[in-house]
Amino acid sequence: TSVASLDSNLPAAEDLHDWDRTHQLHPWAAMDDWRGYDHMMVDSAKGIYLWDSAGKRFIDGPGGMWCVQIGYGRREMADAIASQVMTLPYTSPWTTVTEPSAVLAKKLADMAPGDLNNVFFTTGGSTAVDTAIRTVHFMNNRLGRPDKKIVIAREKGYHGSTYLASSVTGKERDKSRFDVEKRLVRFLPDVNPYRRPEGMSVEDWCDEKVADLENMIAEVGAENVGAFIAEPILCSGGVIVPPEGYHKRTREICRKHDILYISDEVVTGFGRLGHWFASQEVFGITPDIITCAKGLTSGYLPLGACIISDSVMERMTDPDDSVLFANGYTYSAHPVCCAAALKNIEILEDEKILEHVRELAPHFQERLRALRRFDVVGDVRGMGLLGCIEGGAKTLAGERRLGAMLDEVCEEMGLLVRPLINMAVFSPPLVITRAEVDEMFDILERALEEVTRRLSDA
Ligand code: PMP
Repeated sequence: TSVASLDSNLPAAEDLHDWDRTHQLHPWAAMDDWRGYDHMMVDSAKGIYLWDSAGKRFIDGPGGMWCVQIGYGRREMADAIASQVMTLPYTSPWTTVTEPSAVLAKKLADMAPGDLNNVFFTTGGSTAVDTAIRTVHFMNNRLGRPDKKIVIAREKGYHGSTYLASSVTGKERDKSRFDVEKRLVRFLPDVNPYRRPEGMSVEDWCDEKVADLENMIAEVGAENVGAFIAEPILCSGGVIVPPEGYHKRTREICRKHDILYISDEVVTGFGRLGHWFASQEVFGITPDIITCAKGLTSGYLPLGACIISDSVMERMTDPDDSVLFANGYTYSAHPVCCAAALKNIEILEDEKILEHVRELAPHFQERLRALRRFDVVGDVRGMGLLGCIEGGAKTLAGERRLGAMLDEVCEEMGLLVRPLINMAVFSPPLVITRAEVDEMFDILERALEEVTRRLSDA
């Protein structure tokens, strides 16, 4: 492609698709025919809606990738970002500090539970998880117990796409091809109550899942286990809400064995469940480390954070040994990203969006649960403004996966969903109104009727 043609008038949509297919490798590309299909070209967005290049409007059901809390097109965000760019676009986070990063660090420390007062800024969720694991390893080396490094994680958990973060990710497709780090991690079986054996109570299922952790620690030896990493709700794994009581009991087990508890709140943080963080306020636990990203800036700019407890920091510190905690990024604490996060948090506060989520969630969950009446649906589950529809037996085979079918039909009807094999998940912008929630679920009902019709015709 010549530079001249890039400079001339606006490129046509076909050209853009052509350049995209030819030169851009997208995240999570299906490697059978990755040049073979066009991605939806999104032109613009406002509130909870996106418009494609043909001018068609869609409700953004997944809220970008679970991140656009305050919705699209916020003038205040544009102004805050522009103003920071003009004042100070960048400075070294190693040797200098800026106002936005200091204010944001204080703000996150105030929001986080317990003694989680130490904020390390990263470029996103994966690098926050990386930092959390490096913290565990650094601490245990420091304490003279270099074997205490194994991370216990869970099947269906998702923690990111750097090598380290993907190594503790328990989704089969993520871990099967990047398999070097097997020494580092052990996976516990699926905690999803929907998968419990027929006839088993949820309480018994919880006992079994808690025992899975205890047994794993006994098998590996507590002296070899550095951390347990867990999303409060396993989001990318299909919005799996562990059975009631699971979080508190697993937290206690970790404390007993001096195993650090890392709560990965990349999705559940910043209001998705109606609170800044879900660990303490929804599930009653204080982790040793919280990782977050996404809703921290509502996706307007990339930023993540790893929030570490005072007690872990104390154990990493040795006044007689000035070894560096050699962990850092050029863009750690990026001033423009921090300014965007501060404005995003201000909007969440001023517009009482967390309260709004707490008020709206019961209605959202009720409309979600009503979808159980469709034969093609096996399970629906969720919490806050998070939801998942899982297909039943009729949609398990071959091409007839509920995720792909719903994706196709909903798109025709003006709603984007995120397909995940036999599931579709939702995490709309938190500013969604009650009427818009109804609009979304009305489309889902019509789409499930259509899917039912297509399956019975097939
Ligand atoms: N942890 C969780 C729980 C996530 O859902 C994600 C992203 N979906 C990540 C970590 C990784 O975050 P990022 O894509 O910003 O690196």
